[in-house]
Amino acid sequence: MRASRAAVVAAGMLIGAVVAAADAPTRGPEGDRPAPSSASASLGPTPPPTELGALPPSHPEEVAAWMPEARRCSRRSTGGRFCDGPRRIPAPHGEAAELAERLGLGTQRFVDHFLGHRAPEEVLRAVPGEARRDLLWPVPEGFMGRGFGYVRRARLRHRLHKGVDIPAARGSLVRAANDGLVVYADNGVRGYGNLVVVLHPDDTRTHYAHLRAAVVFAGQAVRRGQPLGQVGRTGMTRAPHLHFEWRRGAIARNPRRRFVGRPSFEEERQLQLAAQRRREASTRRLLEARARAERRRADRDG
Ligand SMILES: [Zn+2]
Repeated sequence: MRASRAAVVAAGMLIGAVVAAADAPTRGPEGDRPAPSSASASLGPTPPPTELGALPPSHPEEVAAWMPEARRCSRRSTGGRFCDGPRRIPAPHGEAAELAERLGLGTQRFVDHFLGHRAPEEVLRAVPGEARRDLLWPVPEGFMGRGFGYVRRARLRHRLHKGVDIPAARGSLVRAANDGLVVYADNGVRGYGNLVVVLHPDDTRTHYAHLRAAVVFAGQAVRRGQPLGQVGRTGMTRAPHLHFEWRRGAIARNPRRRFVGRPSFEEERQLQLAAQRRREASTRRLLEARARAERRRADRDG
């Protein structure tokens, strides 16, 4: 074990995936590619596979430091403004941050290119874990909302919905659908709010949008089921939900039939009822606040 890794573990800091070169398992068929001869090999042209080591924190409260807050606001086509904030992304650190730096992950420039292209070979080689055909249901406390594709609703008719919406209470756990490498975590993609993009070994990707907070940053390895953040309503959304996309290369596909671990029909019904109660309660609070404001105005004027 490398000294730096030992120190990190000894310090009890389990935040951030540890990328170990020396004891990383080799991926693919034997002789696929030369094994790294030493720790410094990680700086060579073919980075060793990222180790699925330490777990990112499971809760925002366990995040040691955050990136500086940033609200990115823009105008809607219909007028008015919306903001992709507040940004709530862990500050990158350690070997995962070094890997991100080396591969150029996590930046605006990276994501702008990545969303429309195949993943670079060099980046794919750094993706840990195994490729799978199914997807773990990403919000244990969420139900299936708006589906993939075009909808009839006039307002949305001409817009392809590139994923599925999974409504859930604000703060609900969002977990990784498969093993992979976090290649982007930030709020720089317009409308998506706090967004985590995980790249999987076969160049499929999963996107987790509108997060209240992420608990991972670019360069970290994640295991299937590992926490990525919390359901929120950052970006262009009216109510808390996860917008989940599954892509093959840059092309968004319908993930619906691939989910495993989805709540049962009866459980989803209960979750829907709970969401409806939350909506009603929030409408009630809004109306009460309006009424109070009106009474204050009347008192002042009268
Ligand atoms: Zn959506």
